[in-house]
Amino acid sequence: MAQMYINGEWVDAQSGETYEIRNPANREVVDTVPLGGEADARAAVRAAQRAFPQWADKSPDARAELLRKGIEAVREHAKEIAALLTAEQGKPLFEAHGELNHFLHGMEFYAGLASKIRGAQVPLPDTLSKHAYGLVVKRPVGVSVGIVPWNFPLTLMGTKVGPALIAGSPIIIKPAETTPLATLKVIGLLNEAGLPPGVLQCVTGPGPTVGEALVCDPAVRRVALTGSSETGRRVMQLAGPDFKRVTLELGGSDPMIVCPDANIRKAVSGAVIGRYWNAGQQCLAVKRLYLFEDIYDQFMDGLLKKVGNYRVGDPTTRPEKPFIRMGPLHTARQREEVEAQLADALDKGARLLIGGKRPDDPALQNGFFFEPAVVVDVPRDSKLVTEEVFGPVLPVWKVKSLDEAIELANDSPWGLGSSIWTQNMAWANRAIREIEAGVTWVNQIHFGYDELPFGGVKASGIGHEHGPEAVDYYLENKGAVFGGLDW
Ligand code: NAD
Repeated sequence: MAQMYINGEWVDAQSGETYEIRNPANREVVDTVPLGGEADARAAVRAAQRAFPQWADKSPDARAELLRKGIEAVREHAKEIAALLTAEQGKPLFEAHGELNHFLHGMEFYAGLASKIRGAQVPLPDTLSKHAYGLVVKRPVGVSVGIVPWNFPLTLMGTKVGPALIAGSPIIIKPAETTPLATLKVIGLLNEAGLPPGVLQCVTGPGPTVGEALVCDPAVRRVALTGSSETGRRVMQLAGPDFKRVTLELGGSDPMIVCPDANIRKAVSGAVIGRYWNAGQQCLAVKRLYLFEDIYDQFMDGLLKKVGNYRVGDPTTRPEKPFIRMGPLHTARQREEVEAQLADALDKGARLLIGGKRPDDPALQNGFFFEPAVVVDVPRDSKLVTEEVFGPVLPVWKVKSLDEAIELANDSPWGLGSSIWTQNMAWANRAIREIEAGVTWVNQIHFGYDELPFGGVKASGIGHEHGPEAVDYYLENKGAVFGGLDW
């Protein structure tokens, strides 16, 4: 049985309650974990409060050194961690390794950044005294909470842990209820490298109880949530009255625009990886594809061939090339939601070109498998457009002009990612300027780079993760003024 990590120790829930983690590919029990509650959340926050002065006092190099030791320990256990991630989440093993590598790369980025955080020296007017100057002093914000979803449990934990720890702020991670196992393993290893108790903790359990207890504790000064827009609204309401610093990385419905001069082969790959990686369960997935009429037929040929190469099945195995493995959707509810969204579009007149059903193979009936789909003639009022589609269904539309493509791209409550595929610099620049989104990739797969700030606009959230910018949310800018030379 797995345990939580609070105050430097592996512990059970104070209530003694546990719950099961089941494998989405076969519904078998992978492990049981503590059902954390308010008392556990409180214990973690108190431990973080105690740890804060000591951690804030450590030199940046000392913090980075501990982080690096932890990174090495995690790397040494890569096989075991990836297997755990696949078992609890459902993603194919090679994708689990990809996620772990991304996590490690991000943590290394922040370990390297620890000693490069700097404030500023500011010359001041001599109205009150001559040669007075100001300082912008960076101070850690204090006890922080990171709430993580189930689709990328490790990378999205890393985007919170890395910046918090180098800033000198202790952090408590609340993984998604269904994916705590790889997270607990990684947090244990990072701690064993020598972090003081209370600096990095993990409390498991449901969002509405343990998550809310963490968000609402008055000692918590900073909340980083990655999750759905609905949860974002709730967390913002809870954190608002105490003026906590909140960032929200929420849902998306990313548009991808392919222009007549695009490299079609690469754009097809971009659409396929963009939509179907992690069985389509990505915030920044390509969720709406707009193709110029001139290249529509050629693109669709390539797209349908590639989508036809997916083989849904056991995520711990790989089919022969050119076939590609797709694992199950994460939960029964997740699959039902995608099925309902697709059915709604088909009811309204859309046409299904491939996939879009549960596989017939009797060996797969216990998993939440769903064959990747491509769908056309989708009305703009269907759920495939008005809701976030968190699964492997790609709606495709023809467009006549860039104006039309950008107008459709912006016709969405979300504004997370977006991409344009073109050789035309003027068009690329227009897309960057005019698409309402946190990121526009030009001739590039939708992907969150550790080096670059990532975050959405509109219903996709507020604030950024990734990049040096993410560290600022775990720091306060304190002003200081030195009087002039006449003192
Ligand atoms: P979710 O909102 O249901 O859960 C996310 C986390 O919030 C979980 O740990 C959950 O337990 C917790 N939570 C739920 N209710 C809570 C509450 N009332 N108080 C505190 N915590 C609470 O989201 P999910 O289904 O796990 O993840 C999928 C969603 O996450 C999608 O909408 C996806 O687009 C989004 N997402 C966004 C990004 C991004 O960077 N913008 C990245 C990945 C996923």
